[in-house]
Amino acid sequence: MTDTHCPYCALQCAMTLTPSGGPLPVSVAGRDFPTNRGGLCKKGWSSAELLGDRGRLTTPLVRGVDGELHSAEWDETLDLLAARLRQTADEHGHDAVGVFGGGGLTNEKAYQLGKFARIALRTSRIDYNGRFCMSSAAAAANRAFGIDRGLPFPLTDLDTAETILLLGSNVGDTMPPFVSHLQGARARGGLVVVDPRRSSTARLCADGGGTHLQPVPGTDLVLLLALIHVVIAERLYDRDYVAARTSGFAALRGSVSSWWPERAATITGVPAQSIREVARSLARAESAYILTGRGVEQHVDGTDTATAAIDLALLLGLPGAPGSGYGTLTGQGNGQGGREHGQKADQLPGYRKITDPAARAHVAAVWGVDPDIIPGAGIPAVELLQSAGLPGGIRALLVHGSNVVVSAPNVATVRAALDRLDLLVVSDFFLSETAQMADIVLPVLQWAEEEGTMTNLEGRVLRRRRAVDPPAGARSELWILAELARRLDAPGTWSLEPIEVFDELARASAGGPADYSGLSHALLDTGIEAHWPFPPGSLGTPRLFTDRFAHPDGRALLVAVRAREHEPPTAERLHLVTGRLLEQYQSGTQTRRVPELVSLHPALIVQLHPATARRHGIEEGGEVRIENDRGGLTAIAELTGDIRPDTVFLPFHYPGTASANLLTDDSVDPHSAMPEFKRALVHVSAV
Ligand code: SF4
Repeated sequence: MTDTHCPYCALQCAMTLTPSGGPLPVSVAGRDFPTNRGGLCKKGWSSAELLGDRGRLTTPLVRGVDGELHSAEWDETLDLLAARLRQTADEHGHDAVGVFGGGGLTNEKAYQLGKFARIALRTSRIDYNGRFCMSSAAAAANRAFGIDRGLPFPLTDLDTAETILLLGSNVGDTMPPFVSHLQGARARGGLVVVDPRRSSTARLCADGGGTHLQPVPGTDLVLLLALIHVVIAERLYDRDYVAARTSGFAALRGSVSSWWPERAATITGVPAQSIREVARSLARAESAYILTGRGVEQHVDGTDTATAAIDLALLLGLPGAPGSGYGTLTGQGNGQGGREHGQKADQLPGYRKITDPAARAHVAAVWGVDPDIIPGAGIPAVELLQSAGLPGGIRALLVHGSNVVVSAPNVATVRAALDRLDLLVVSDFFLSETAQMADIVLPVLQWAEEEGTMTNLEGRVLRRRRAVDPPAGARSELWILAELARRLDAPGTWSLEPIEVFDELARASAGGPADYSGLSHALLDTGIEAHWPFPPGSLGTPRLFTDRFAHPDGRALLVAVRAREHEPPTAERLHLVTGRLLEQYQSGTQTRRVPELVSLHPALIVQLHPATARRHGIEEGGEVRIENDRGGLTAIAELTGDIRPDTVFLPFHYPGTASANLLTDDSVDPHSAMPEFKRALVHVSAV
């Protein structure tokens, strides 16, 4: 029996894998753990299917002159790859080689990938798919608190909350065991869910559980500014806390003066009285939390929206107060650790800034290199992908743990960009849609075949353990990076062992915001609670901000933000919001292979309101064409009164011509470079 955690989302539910003797190598059982209390969702229960999948890659693939991918030997493939990488750098410069990482990689792999990019490839062009996920929440937290840890408190703290304001997150579908932590507030009638859809989470508010606010997509910032307006106008804010622990109040007060609830109601569609009641209930509560998710963050104003949520929490004196707080719900399995160890364009391990001379010197000493050879900051994901094959852009790209031709915004342009590359290399364990486009595919280890660590949505570092032998022919990414580093004559040492890479990562993180220096695999194996920062001798930091925030003056910053102008929908053009289904995870590379999960929604569905459907001649189960300037697709109509009549919903797990990201906007947030995933205007018509 092997104790490990789920391969999918950031809740990282604990599970035990037992050799089964059946068609699958192991059986899965939920294991008691604070975040999941023994529970798993459908995805976790069926995760062993991934280990027996016949589509598993077991040999490198190289595209031949016939245009097809052919099996190849490791040595010849890595020789070829190293030669092509050298040639690209020699002809076009180091920055012509790009690296694209993923929020599902273990901490060890994310760390090694960042190091490989900087000192083996000498490129600044590295970023990762967390840019599409957590970047706005991270930018807001860094701005307000001086540090970014998704939940700065253990998840179980929510259990006793009187009021929880949950904005833009459908945990009922995305991470069902999380719902148990909302039940306390629900029982007190204090659950407030903000979502344009009456999602499974919003339905928890029925029957006295709380309040569901259903704003027009993309107007969350206005809603938050109106809540702040009420809190200030009615003097509901915590004056002692604001005076002692924050700065910036005067500017914030001035910035919200014009957002009285009646005005906000005309934009958001949320009644003014509801806005007042929610503000008052948050202020009245002895114990209150404000939580945000991608629904409010994946916008061009996502950083400002998350900032406004933090402003509201600070005014109410929540962050760092016992039984209260603000947090953001990380989505990808290692979405937290993945943004700490150096695969982000502007970052070195330990959540250090790559532009900070002291950080460069510290990390260079750990790597055994001169700080001057570490490149400067790179460019964020959308820009990196769009630069492919263009003058001054990347000409070769290594992709690890990401399926960008499904998950990137305005995905037709990303597919075209990848087509312009001289060399696309994908490391994956299945032939994802991105791997299908590659010149070279490298088969790597998955979840239950590898050792390592993950950091969950609470900033708690967890052990991932090997339960089964990988197929002969698949290799760890640590081995691949070490073999390439040797062929590229890279400086430094390149361990193949996760335990040693973790020790190096810990040294590199020492003294940084995300300090893992007191941790090791051996210590984690004792079962300790390991919330970072965890310097040597520490017992971990389950709760941040109890005494001070991470800015030099110890105060949190209240930041005045402005709402953007909105292009309203019309009878002809509707809002499109995208999101997840209960049974699918991200681009679906894994979950679309599990028959039990696929059977629930074998084809792309579009949710729309019955009145909207009637107006467009659309019937339940009928085919619907959804289009805008960027592209179009066809989906099966699912009529529901749970969605606003001016809005349609598409899940984003489907590939090819069914990819919702054919329609999404690649405009980005000026602070975080987060694309506008959660709002686009579309035309719908019956096919
Ligand atoms: Fe838990 Fe998330 Fe895995 Fe579901 S997908 S079992 S919620 S970790």
